[in-house]
Amino acid sequence: MRRKMAAGNWKMNGSRAALAELDAIAAQSADFDVDTLICPPTLYVSEAVTHASGNPLYIGSQDCHFETSGAHTGDNSAAMIADLGGTHVILGHSERRADHGEGSELVREKARAALQAGLTAIVCVGESEEQRLAKNTLDIIGGQLASSVPDASTAANTIIAYEPVWAIGTGRTATTYEIDEVHDFIRARLIRRFGDEGEGMRLLYGGSVKPTNAAEIFATDNVDGALVGGASLKADDFVPIIKALAAS
Ligand code: PEP
Repeated sequence: MRRKMAAGNWKMNGSRAALAELDAIAAQSADFDVDTLICPPTLYVSEAVTHASGNPLYIGSQDCHFETSGAHTGDNSAAMIADLGGTHVILGHSERRADHGEGSELVREKARAALQAGLTAIVCVGESEEQRLAKNTLDIIGGQLASSVPDASTAANTIIAYEPVWAIGTGRTATTYEIDEVHDFIRARLIRRFGDEGEGMRLLYGGSVKPTNAAEIFATDNVDGALVGGASLKADDFVPIIKALAAS
């Protein structure tokens, strides 16, 4: 039985004052039997961990370097995120793949570093609109999965997020048919490669998840939760999503 997860990606949003939302999210979602995670900008992880302490709320980051330390100006290592009390790290998000030219092999190295540091890696995969229209979705996802997920991945240390690029921040959501098809495909590939561990890995859907569409998405097979961007910034939006997940 896979435990459900509602994960929030704050991207480059938020402030120290905005961390008060964490208190509201924690207080209003305490009774829901799901894992709740917020990934603020890395600068705020330490203070976010303080807000989360004593609350059923995990705090993570949105990226890490693949080395533990060294001459990498501006970067943060997985060990540093763990040192701050972070527990998860999002890797291979399409915005990092696009903004920073990150390829799947680099994502795998980062994920490997995250696992070594004791973090849970949330590895993102997803096709562009062009790739979907060309009917290449499953080939793209299969390739990203094979190259981005390290061999050391287990059900306990790795989560996969399917995020169609065309659905992120656009207000367009994949249909439940599209989500079902891709999540079933990912599950089959994970089982083929990792056996029982692949059966146990959680699969999150991400891409314009809102309180209004969450229940329908969570009713889809092989959807174990969501990676939520814009709607995770405010408790008023995120808590109803967590509630819909708990009820699914
Ligand atoms: C994301 O940033 O991973 C995401 C899914 O964003 P949004 O929910 O805003 O589409």
